[in-house]
Amino acid sequence: MSKKRVALLGATGSIGTSTLEVLRLHRERFELFAISFHSNVEKASKIVDEFHPEYVVSTSNKKLEFENQLFGIEGLKTVAHEADIVVVATGGIVGVFPTIEALKAGKRVALANKETLVSFGNIVKDVLRNSNGEIIPVDSEHSAIFQLLDGRRKEVKNIYITASGGPFRAKPVEELQKVRPEDALKHPTWSMGQKITIDSATMINKGLEIIEAYHLFDVSPERIKVVVHPQSIIHGMVELVDGAFIAHLSTPDMKIPIQYALTYPERLSSPAKTFNPFEISQLIFEKPDFEKFPGLKLAYDVLNEGREYPAIFNAANEEAVFMFLRGRIKFTEIPEIIRRVLENNPGFDPETLDGLLEADQWARQEAKRQAERLT
Ligand code: NAD
Ligand code: MG
Repeated sequence: MSKKRVALLGATGSIGTSTLEVLRLHRERFELFAISFHSNVEKASKIVDEFHPEYVVSTSNKKLEFENQLFGIEGLKTVAHEADIVVVATGGIVGVFPTIEALKAGKRVALANKETLVSFGNIVKDVLRNSNGEIIPVDSEHSAIFQLLDGRRKEVKNIYITASGGPFRAKPVEELQKVRPEDALKHPTWSMGQKITIDSATMINKGLEIIEAYHLFDVSPERIKVVVHPQSIIHGMVELVDGAFIAHLSTPDMKIPIQYALTYPERLSSPAKTFNPFEISQLIFEKPDFEKFPGLKLAYDVLNEGREYPAIFNAANEEAVFMFLRGRIKFTEIPEIIRRVLENNPGFDPETLDGLLEADQWARQEAKRQAERLT
């Protein structure tokens, strides 16, 4: 069997690092064909020394001592076109370009980057429908639902994605004003990049995930439920019409869904620690608190609104999170800024990638303007 050639985009990040661990264990199956990195030259060099990829893509002005180096979006597209499997684990909306390119070339996209579907879901789905490519979700909840659905459609009543509730699940709402970036970066169950960790604290990560689920599974918004489950052992549940629920359980370790996206439909042994039911005495479920976490409610609103609203939601959130991390705004101002930006949407063309990119750019500027007004 010939080895599958993997392009790992965002190789230096949290998902990138976990993907490398999976590849290390299955060297007989996969070959690291290309990587991309943004700013971490040191980490990228280490990956090159260990895996000897054919190509390295830099998405910033940083360079490695390496012959086959490509740059920017064109570089991402080139390696996405050539690889057998493209793991899209970059942060931000840049993931849309290699995703579309890989699908058009009939390749498998192992999609970790949720912003791609949140902002450009309809466009990516159109490309997918008219291609021989496939998207296998890496986000743990979506990997769980993907496995549970397994061809089931008509008999599905609702899907449930679980949320840990983040570090502030038990904090009184009036204390949220004062939380600092270092408090919000302490996730109770998952170890992830900074931006998604803040999104988990605001529960906007779950908001992005309901939009992602909508595009991946063609389930109407009111049938996508969020359930708070602090142990992060159950990742997704599917409720069937006869009242049966089926659930997916594992340790909270991204190496499990990453590996499944690479090997699907096969399963291989995993580098992740396995779940031991005897170590867990109880599994708790709670309703999400939409008042304490208004960003989650906004996500349902923009999903129902459709058009360019999800792209604006995502872009305004990303800017607000960066401003919070830099100490510019308060934690509770993140959803407030998003709300104001959405309210001011002057209207963009949601049918084209250019129209949505314009909406994205506008939302980032508007988020900064709104932050100035708040202070
Ligand atoms: P991270 O911040 O640890 O890593 C991001 C990677 O993207 C790095 O390699 C970085 O160099 C690269 N990058 C950053 N900015 C870039 C830009 N402008 N252009 C191109 N590349 C850029 O993030 P992460 O936690 O690994 O998350 C990556 C993606 O996967 C995000 O979209 C996130 O929502 C999604 N995701 C992550 C997890 C997780 O457990 N970490 C789970 C589900 C989904
Ligand atoms: Mg997730």
